[in-house]
Amino acid sequence: MRFDIFTLFPEIFAGVFDESIVKRAREARLVEIALHDIRDYTTDKHHVTDDYPYAGGGGMVMKPAPIFAAVEAVLGSPPQIPVVLLSPQGRVFDQSIARELAQHAHIALICGHYEGVDERVREHLATDEISIGDYVLTGGEIPAMVIVDAVARLVPGALGDPSAPAHDSHASGLLEGPHYTRPAEFRGWTVPEILLSGNHAQIAEWRRRESLRRTFDRRPELLRQVELSEEDQEFLKSLGWQENQK
Ligand code: SAH
Repeated sequence: MRFDIFTLFPEIFAGVFDESIVKRAREARLVEIALHDIRDYTTDKHHVTDDYPYAGGGGMVMKPAPIFAAVEAVLGSPPQIPVVLLSPQGRVFDQSIARELAQHAHIALICGHYEGVDERVREHLATDEISIGDYVLTGGEIPAMVIVDAVARLVPGALGDPSAPAHDSHASGLLEGPHYTRPAEFRGWTVPEILLSGNHAQIAEWRRRESLRRTFDRRPELLRQVELSEEDQEFLKSLGWQENQK
C-alpha cells in the first residue's frame, strides 16, 4: 500500500516511519510512504505557501495553488485515488475508517497548518476529510502519522502475527482483555491461573469474558454495536448490564 503525504514540514515524519513495525513494513515493500514538500511546488521567488485570510481574522491560511500543484504533479489531475484532507472538522477517525482506508492500494493525505487550508482545497481537491478527534492541533502532520500507523498495521503481513488485528481492541467492537507475559509472579502479583492451564477452550472463554467485562466497565456504549451471543448476554447481565441498554 502506498501513502503520498503532502506537507510543509516533511522532517516532522522522520523517526515515526523509521522505526519498529512501520519501518519493517516499508523494508518488506508492504508499505511505501512518499513525503512531498508543498513548498517545492511554489512558483514565486520567495516560495510563499500561506497568506493572510480575506476579511481579516487571525492566523495564516495555506494558499491553494501550491497544494493543487503538488498533488496534481504527483497524482495527476484529477487524482484517481482518495485524497484525504486532515481537518478537525472531518469525520472522526476510528478503527472502521482505518479498515476502510486499508482496502485501497494507494491514498494521499494533505496536512494543513496554521489556521488551515484555503476552502477550495477542501471543495475541489480533497475527496475525504478526516479528524483524529475533537481537539485542535497545530498541523495535520501528527494526524497523518496516526492514520498511516493505524492503516499500515492492517496491511496483510505488516504484523508478525497475521491474526493479531482481529483480536485488537475495536476490531470486533469490543476492547481487548488484559495481556500478561513472563514471569508468572512479579512482586507477588500473579498471572491468572487459567492462562497457565493450557486449556485452549477455557482460555478463549476467559478472554471473551474479560473483553466483555472491560468494554462494559469502560465503554458500555460500544456494546450497542456488537453482536452478542446468548452466553455473552448472560455474562454481561451477571455484571449488571441491562439488555435494554443495548
Ligand atoms: N482553524 C481550523 C483549525 C486549524 S488547525 C479550524 O478551526 O477548523 C491547523 C491544521 O491542523 C488543520 O488544517 C488540520 O490539517 C490540522 N488539524 C488540527 N487538528 C486536527 C484534528 N483534530 N484532526 C486532523 N487534523 C487536524
